[in-house]
Amino acid sequence: MVSHELKTPLTSLSAIIQVSNAKLKGSEDQFLASAMEKANLQVKRMSNMINGFLNVSRLESAKLQLDKQEFDLGALMENIVAETTLTVSTHNLTLKGCAQVMIYADQDKISSVITNLIGNAIKYSPKGTMVQIACETTANKVQVSVRDEGIGLKPQDKEKVFDRYYRVENSHTQHISGFGIGLYLSAEIIRRHEGEIWVESEPGAGSTFYFSLPYNS
Ligand code: ADP
Repeated sequence: MVSHELKTPLTSLSAIIQVSNAKLKGSEDQFLASAMEKANLQVKRMSNMINGFLNVSRLESAKLQLDKQEFDLGALMENIVAETTLTVSTHNLTLKGCAQVMIYADQDKISSVITNLIGNAIKYSPKGTMVQIACETTANKVQVSVRDEGIGLKPQDKEKVFDRYYRVENSHTQHISGFGIGLYLSAEIIRRHEGEIWVESEPGAGSTFYFSLPYNS
């Protein structure tokens, strides 16, 4: 209920920002234009968080529905990477091997999984490092990987990061905000698509998060 209530003012705030943004297009005022971009980004972040909580409660009441359709995973990845590159200048994002890959899945939910993995790679790694995103296809599977050069994970944490509300607490993460639901939701979404999700990581040596989905080439 709280999540629903929060969405209403956020939706109008988002609309106001969109309209202001449109009015500012071509304006000479650089400060306002960039402030509006930032406001837009923060509204998007908040809306993602609220949707995350809504999805946790839907998941727990078994109401998380998949709305599957055929779409190009490669094009979706390109869009997400392009949009992230527009708003994030702290990391170098690269994308490899994600040419046309038609899959039958819930596009919005797969999009939220990719956004979450890329967001985490940025959140948990130092400025100026690389985030390498790649796709690999075999006859019946497509595998997506997101590799960062960040703080990495200890073996005992690797097993738990997909649990609900689990967050690693140490000196590296204490100033990084989050609720520990992104990977939990991502794992559920991938499992419901009969896919797999896992991580390879060493403390201090970065992490690579993977997911795979069934695919008919
Ligand atoms: P949040 O980031 O909001 O805490 P997530 O569910 O997305 O929630 O992630 C759970 C935890 O897993 C994080 O709190 C963090 O400790 C760890 N984690 C996730 N992604 C990474 C990563 N790329 N590198 C290191 N740790 C990570």
